[in-house]
Amino acid sequence: MLNRRGMLQALVAAALGSSAVSLASGSAVAADSQRRLPWRNWSGSQQCLPGARVAPASVAQLQELVAGAPGVVRAVGAGHSFTPLVPTDGTIVSLARLTGLVEHDSRTLQATLWAGSRLGDIGGPLEQAGQALVNMPDIDEQSLAGCLATATHGTGAGIGCMSSFVEGLQLVDARGDLVECDRLRNPELFAAARVSLGTLGIITQVKLQNLAPYRLRRETVWREFDEILEIAESEADKHRNFEFYYVPFSGMGFTDAHDLSDDPVSSTEKIDGNEGVRDLQLARDWLDWSPRLRELVLGSYMKTLGDEVTVANSWKNYASERNVRFNEMEYHLPREHGLKALREVRLALETRHPEVFFPIEVRYVKHDDIWLSPFYERDCCSIAVHRFFEEDYVPYFRTIEPIFRKYHGRPHWGKLNTLQQADFRKLYPRWEDFAAVRREMDPRGRFLNPYLAGLFASNGAGQ
Ligand SMILES: Cc1cc2nc3c(=O)[nH]c(=O)nc-3n(C[C@H](O)[C@H](O)[C@H](O)COP(=O)(O)OP(=O)(O)OC[C@H]3O[C@@H](n4cnc5c(N)ncnc54)[C@H](O)[C@@H]3O)c2cc1C
Repeated sequence: MLNRRGMLQALVAAALGSSAVSLASGSAVAADSQRRLPWRNWSGSQQCLPGARVAPASVAQLQELVAGAPGVVRAVGAGHSFTPLVPTDGTIVSLARLTGLVEHDSRTLQATLWAGSRLGDIGGPLEQAGQALVNMPDIDEQSLAGCLATATHGTGAGIGCMSSFVEGLQLVDARGDLVECDRLRNPELFAAARVSLGTLGIITQVKLQNLAPYRLRRETVWREFDEILEIAESEADKHRNFEFYYVPFSGMGFTDAHDLSDDPVSSTEKIDGNEGVRDLQLARDWLDWSPRLRELVLGSYMKTLGDEVTVANSWKNYASERNVRFNEMEYHLPREHGLKALREVRLALETRHPEVFFPIEVRYVKHDDIWLSPFYERDCCSIAVHRFFEEDYVPYFRTIEPIFRKYHGRPHWGKLNTLQQADFRKLYPRWEDFAAVRREMDPRGRFLNPYLAGLFASNGAGQ
């Protein structure tokens, strides 16, 4: 059978002779003479040399540690956030030893999980307990608490972000005390803590509202971009989960739709997404001088790609592996502005940034009532732009961010943006309420690193 990747390379080669790129490698923080262990996030955009890195084995150990640690304490999950939420020269605490299912209730379909659990490790035990997560993001490497802290989301116009499934939380506050909250106990803390950037305390356990186990049919279809724009809104309403990607300089993209299914587990042949991104990089390297030729080559190639259908248990049918690292900016826009903004993003990208090859991702998320959720009282269309991790993302993101801001977008808390406290205050009607809860939970600012102190400190208070 003809190898599709080979076909793209043949098309590129036919358009031009071969060439190669060499990429500069990023700088890294090294361990120092005191043997402190450096920390860096997934993409390498954030690095630090913390005074200590610890992973308590019990809640009691965690309480002792928080109460006694000198300086700032920051929780870390899987380090998959791009923003400087974790870096500190104080203590970094991982809950990697506090994982798994604590208890479940078959009647309410609720389950309590240790906050350090990785998403990819939750599906199996939950299924055995007769439950499944309502939705998942497009990777499953993150920790549960890390996801909640930044309002991590999947896609689905009728489905909220991960934090909207939370029914109760247990956390260790800045004094080392254990606090519980839900809609009845400490309701203000509950409204704040479901999306809290790790500023209210270290979350130890999470009670989630789940569903009975379900199976999903996922269908991926390559289409012309104009067709995607025409059908996107109605497809978003029609399918349980719907998202799409636009491949820059190709005129083509693909839609991805998930629906409930009783069909047997099955899968058609799949394109390796990581290889696909490498191919786009290759096309950029060779053809960035001619957008017209690049679109001809990429567009012709993509028109040969067949549909893919995968039927699998829900928790195995959301996430993909992302092996080609990148930096990312994602804004959540009021849904009605999404496609208008996307057209402008495409135009700006294709007229000013031939260096970009990563697809643009577009998703839909339902509103919620969580104070710092970007989806607070707003149904959203989320648009994400990416740059290869070894290449400078600043010029591209600087071009795109004003478009997102013009349409009143709120940035993903874990993804790159340049907003400051004054901007967030305008975007979040409950900002002051959150700030008051934060001051109460952490009056001395023990959970604030410099970035977060900039966001939350008012007139020096709370630092
Ligand atoms: C390849 C890739 C794909 C991604 N896909 C998606 C996606 O599909 N949808 C989406 O919305 N986002 C996505 N993201 C972003 C990611 O989901 C978020 O940044 C998420 O917060 C990362 O979780 P983490 O466990 O790595 O947490 P970290 O990045 O390690 O930490 C994030 C925040 O959580 C806090 N935190 C961690 N543990 C605790 C705890 N126990 N108590 C209190 N606070 C805590 C940290 O202090 C920090 O503020 C993606 C990121 C990458 C790199």
